Amino acid sequence: MDKTDPSVRIAIDGPAASGKSTTARLVAQALGFLYVDTGAMYRAVTLAVLEKGIDPGDGGSITRLARDLDIDQTLKDHETRTHMNGRDVSDEIRLPAVTAVISRISSHPGLRRIMVEKQRQLAARGNVVMEGRDIGTVVIPDAEIKIFMEASLDERARRRLKELKAKGVETSLEEIRADINRRDELDASRSDSPLKAAADAVILDTSRLTVDEQVGFVLRLFKNRLSAEK
Ligand code: C5P
Repeated sequence: MDKTDPSVRIAIDGPAASGKSTTARLVAQALGFLYVDTGAMYRAVTLAVLEKGIDPGDGGSITRLARDLDIDQTLKDHETRTHMNGRDVSDEIRLPAVTAVISRISSHPGLRRIMVEKQRQLAARGNVVMEGRDIGTVVIPDAEIKIFMEASLDERARRRLKELKAKGVETSLEEIRADINRRDELDASRSDSPLKAAADAVILDTSRLTVDEQVGFVLRLFKNRLSAEK
């Protein structure tokens, strides 16, 4: 990209383990864009809630906690690291204890307002790939490119199992399948900014795609957009 190219915001949404994070990170790297993993931001808040012993149903206390929390993401050795008040919490935010309560915690409207505000500030820098559940619908509804990634539940569970096994986590396909299904149901049924595709999002079913194909698809959308503007 040269300096005369317009700023582009790419919003990627979708259910758990649909391939969003890997695709979004690689697209951001290929384009030299900022990458924002909003799920990691909600995970950092959830970790803080657990550490402070706050009741996951106490929306007021969670909102106050999130307001004072400094959450930051950096790229290190091709990996995104998440920091909470300066502490690297990238590994802890993936612990099963966090995943178990995150959908409940992230359903509080007060908390969501604060997170959306932080995310909009990041998106305002432009040239960003942001992924989550409500990016194309709520956070940046005027994003230049919107993609909703989906894949069959079985395929998503298989992928997540492979990832966790590589990290040495002992679990079963059934357990993962049940966990992501439960999380998707909670995320899609909450009243505030539920998981759903924006009306103008491009739907990408990744069930039979490789990571390279997913990244290639998004990069093609980006190039088409740029050439349409010239
Ligand atoms: O993307 P990831 O699976 O790490 O997200 C974890 C959880 O964070 C989701 O299941 C959802 O409850 C919440 N989340 C959200 N809105 C976003 C991103 C994540 O509510 N934009």
